Amino acid sequence: MMKVVVLGSGGSVESANRACSSYLINSNMVIDVGPGSYRNFLRYGGNPLKVRYFFITHLHGDHFFDIGAFLWGMSYLGRVEPVAVIGPKGVKESFESLIRNANTPKTFMKFDVEYQEIDPGERIKVEDFEVNTEKGEHTITDIAYRIGPLCYTGDTAPSERIVELCKKASLLIHDSSGLSENEDYLNKVGHSSGRQAATEALQAKAKKLLLTHITPALSNQTAKLKAEALKVFKETFIAKDLFETEV
Ligand SMILES: [Zn+2]
Repeated sequence: MMKVVVLGSGGSVESANRACSSYLINSNMVIDVGPGSYRNFLRYGGNPLKVRYFFITHLHGDHFFDIGAFLWGMSYLGRVEPVAVIGPKGVKESFESLIRNANTPKTFMKFDVEYQEIDPGERIKVEDFEVNTEKGEHTITDIAYRIGPLCYTGDTAPSERIVELCKKASLLIHDSSGLSENEDYLNKVGHSSGRQAATEALQAKAKKLLLTHITPALSNQTAKLKAEALKVFKETFIAKDLFETEV
């Protein structure tokens, strides 16, 4: 059994009700750390000392701005155990420069951050989980992750590789950045509509679909977003901050 908590269901930028992309798995893994996610993690009751792994899909700010908040939060609590960051090439340089530019005192942050930079398509093992990855269709390298029964796309236009990765996933968390009328534009900028996310869920024979990356522009159109997806795939839900489920 795996517990998944949505720490951030927003996309591109935060809104009053949504932090940006972030998901807590069990109590020790976090995929993406978008702005606002650390506060939601605390509101949920997460313990920063228990988090051991960060998975990063891609290096756009809406997916990682809160890494500093997490690391400072851990430092404040006196953490000494290392944390692991798994992500695309460049994640080490990006996060190290962020820590440096935040003038993080060495006397404050007493633990190591271990980086594992991977290419999309690589398979790794994290604790008891086989972690499979694939390349998303985005404007920069995006790594979609399959961790046990869970599949998370990061930001992506529809892709056969993603469908393959997510085959028979119990839970598919899929980029859903707009309505079907905007698909041409969305796909050009490396995103999917809710309808396209539902098509991927259907093709992958996933059990449940969680539509996420809900941009502020979509905030009062979620009923339409869901209706468009439901026509294609019945088990569709719209992600909300602090929504939790077991898979
Ligand atoms: Zn994004």
